[in-house]
Amino acid sequence: MSYEIPHRWIVTFRYPLEPLPPPKELRGRPIIDPNLCIGCGACVRACPPNAITEEIDISKGIKVVKIFYGRCIFCGRCWEVCPEGAIRLSNEFELATPNKDDLIQYVVLPLHKCVNCGKPTEFTERQVVRVLTMIQELPIERREELRSKILLCRECKASFLSKPMELRGSEVYEKVKA
Ligand code: SF4
Ligand code: SF4
Repeated sequence: MSYEIPHRWIVTFRYPLEPLPPPKELRGRPIIDPNLCIGCGACVRACPPNAITEEIDISKGIKVVKIFYGRCIFCGRCWEVCPEGAIRLSNEFELATPNKDDLIQYVVLPLHKCVNCGKPTEFTERQVVRVLTMIQELPIERREELRSKILLCRECKASFLSKPMELRGSEVYEKVKA
C-alpha cells in the first residue's frame, strides 16, 4: 500500500510572525450598526456573560447600549436575536490593546418624549416608530390602547389609563388616538 504525500504539506504556520487569514466562518468581534439599532435590549438579555449592557439617562434623554469586548465570548447570541439585523459578526479576533476603552462600543439613542408632558420616556424614538408600524394592522381600539401605552410617560399613562373611558381627558386622547 502506498500513500500519496503532498509535495508541500504545511502543518504549521508562522502566525503571529506572519498574518494568518481567519476562516470565513469565524465568529469574531460583534459590531452594532448605530444606524440600525433601535435600542430594544434583546441582545442585552441574550448575552451570556453580560458583555452588552444598556443604560437609560432620563436627564439627558438618551439610552446607551454598550458592548465591552473584554467580557465577550464570541458566541454570536446577540447576532442571532437582534430583530433589526443591526449586529454583524466581523472576522476581527486580535483585540489586544493597552487601552481598555478601545474594547468598548457605545450606541447612543435619543429617548422618545411623552406626547402629553414632553418628559423623556423609557423607550427610544426608534422603538416607538417600530411599534407604531407593527400595530398598524390591529383593530382601532386595540391600537389606541397600545398607542397610549407607548406614546405617554409612566405618570401620564397611569393617570390616563386609570380613569374610565368616558372620564379620560379628550386633550390627551387627541394626542394618542389612532
Ligand atoms: S458574541 Fe456573545 S458574548 Fe459577545 S456580545 Fe454577543 S452575546 Fe455577548
Ligand atoms: S438587539 Fe439589535 S436593535 Fe436591539 S439593542 Fe441590540 S443591537 Fe440594538
